[in-house]
Amino acid sequence: MNGASQPTILKADTAGVAKAIDVLGEGGLVAMPTETVYGLAARADSDAAIARIYRAKGRPDFNPLIVHVADVAQAKTLAHLDDRAERLAAAFWPGALTLVVPLRAGAPVAQAVTAGLPTIALRCPAHPVMRAVLAESGLALAAPSANASGKVSPTMADHVARSLGGNVGLILDGGPCAAGIESTIVALREGGGWQVLRHGPVTESRIRGVLDRDADAMTSNRTFEAPGQLASHYAPGKPMRLDAERAQPDEYHIGFADVRGDETLSATGDLAEAAARLYLLLHRAAESGKRRIAVAPVPSEGIGVAINDRLRRAAADMPAQ
Ligand code: AMP
Ligand code: MG
Repeated sequence: MNGASQPTILKADTAGVAKAIDVLGEGGLVAMPTETVYGLAARADSDAAIARIYRAKGRPDFNPLIVHVADVAQAKTLAHLDDRAERLAAAFWPGALTLVVPLRAGAPVAQAVTAGLPTIALRCPAHPVMRAVLAESGLALAAPSANASGKVSPTMADHVARSLGGNVGLILDGGPCAAGIESTIVALREGGGWQVLRHGPVTESRIRGVLDRDADAMTSNRTFEAPGQLASHYAPGKPMRLDAERAQPDEYHIGFADVRGDETLSATGDLAEAAARLYLLLHRAAESGKRRIAVAPVPSEGIGVAINDRLRRAAADMPAQ
């Protein structure tokens, strides 16, 4: 699926940002760093630009996109933010929290962005490069992870180039992503319910701390709302075994804390470091000469909940016997 040509990779400096804004303004695609993973950005108000994202990723078109905004004021031009949304935005924006909120009638958003849903997923990112592009262009940018659909997400410019090849013309290289795992997605329902659709760097307990009055998490209607929640996703393309304290000779072993492995998510057992290195090591495991992958146990606390969520889905593609 990759085009024959290779993408241009520019440093994410002033000139790189200016070039990115030109390309985006004309409806083109630019891959750029955010604090979570690299995003594949296009202007959210253009049907043609959004179609390019779906084509480049090979993304099923029932899977809607997150729209990135410069601030709360811009978010309000696209969606209705109730009191809870305002409180969450005040607490966690700019940052790794995506809010699913009612779409404003007549909002300048291509239909394919929301895949026809009456809601829209919005995030105000913290990464200085993405923030500069948003602020200087004035555009709202749809930006899913910059990888072929269903595969491991990119945390470095080089991962993007290898996953998307010529399907993306321009990549801004801003170094490795700090959080390394996709944003937390929380859906706010009209009538008071809310639900974490995808676990991420902002933990459910911190969200609960802000929404203390609205603690009734809802469980219905999940199927097409967050296809990042499909059983198989983030697939490294090899059989994968979890909770492995030891590895077999044909396994690339990803360690954590006392379990050393071929390489470790974090030798000191630091979960934030583990999240930041998760996709890097899945990429390395995929490229290694080993036929299978084994991953050390990672505790399900704090951001460890999101790490284990991604590991389970990565393993679901080809479970190891
Ligand atoms: P990605 O862009 O690859 O990080 O994935 C974006 C995630 O946001 C997917 O899991 C989408 O299903 C989810 N998403 C985007 N828009 C909505 C929406 N309106 N309602 C619920 N989930 C959404
Ligand atoms: Mg993704």
